[in-house]
Amino acid sequence: MKTRTVVSGRCLAACLAATLLVVLLLALSPLSAPDCNCGRFEPLETPLSSDRLAVLVPFRDRFDELVEFVPHLTNFLQHQGVNHEIFVLNQVDQFRFNRASLINAGFKVVRRTFDYVAMHDVDLLPLNPELSYARPADGRPFHVAAPHLHPRYHYPTFVGGILLISVKDFEQVNGMSNKYWGWGLEDDEFYVRMRDARFNVTRPGNLTTNTSNTFWHNHNTSRRKRDFTKCYHQKEVTRRRDRYTGLKDVKYQVVARHHLKIDNIPFTLLNIELECDKVLTPWCECEEPKEKAKPKT
Ligand code: UDP
Ligand code: MN
Repeated sequence: MKTRTVVSGRCLAACLAATLLVVLLLALSPLSAPDCNCGRFEPLETPLSSDRLAVLVPFRDRFDELVEFVPHLTNFLQHQGVNHEIFVLNQVDQFRFNRASLINAGFKVVRRTFDYVAMHDVDLLPLNPELSYARPADGRPFHVAAPHLHPRYHYPTFVGGILLISVKDFEQVNGMSNKYWGWGLEDDEFYVRMRDARFNVTRPGNLTTNTSNTFWHNHNTSRRKRDFTKCYHQKEVTRRRDRYTGLKDVKYQVVARHHLKIDNIPFTLLNIELECDKVLTPWCECEEPKEKAKPKT
């Protein structure tokens, strides 16, 4: 009887110790972080290169994602010693979202003061520090969010998400088409521009990570619905290569420039009003604009 009491007493102590250990491990574990185990990377004291990168982020109504993005990407790039500045291209007109025209507009703002740009979705966060954001050589745009690494898009000609390209190359292909209002296909059209220019798109190789852990796609699809609507002859036109519109004819106004900080990390927010040529692309508005509510008298 005595031995049994001693044994169960020991067992109780061991169980308590084990429980404490599990509680401690859980508290320290990344699972306890609210959203993402995005990691912290030690910054380099001085940038490794004098090449200047402008991160162009097409944007509208993605505040929660931006709050994650700015500190994370800055930390990630400082760790690599990449000399960079983030430009959030905030579309403030009444038209449907136009990712490509925002990038064209943002590019015009930075082309004289930067060497290369990253077209960067706000909801795609690099997790693997081996993903290089170094300046790609001319003629060799670097697709960071490669199909074998992107969480969602795996077709071989995919160039969306995050693409690095030199200022010279972006100018050479006349930037991106301005005909894409709403979600999709503008990146595929840009792939054809690059192919026609005989650029050699390169991608990360020999990474230890895969589609599940190279990026965090911070996209809640029930809250952030993609705008798949097609109206007028949008479908037919956007299936074809656009040889006419681009950087040279993008119509926009930067109506405000704000120098902001998130967690003390600086970035620039540009409020951009795009113009729409209703004859060329009537699908910039698929619904009749709603009548403004009359003020009550
Ligand atoms: N985006 C935005 N607001 C929108 C639609 C798109 O800011 O209403 C930007 C944002 O940077 C986003 C990118 O465009 O990451 C690509 O859109 P989305 O994430 O819907 O496309 P996906 O790649 O997930 O299909
Ligand atoms: Mn997304």
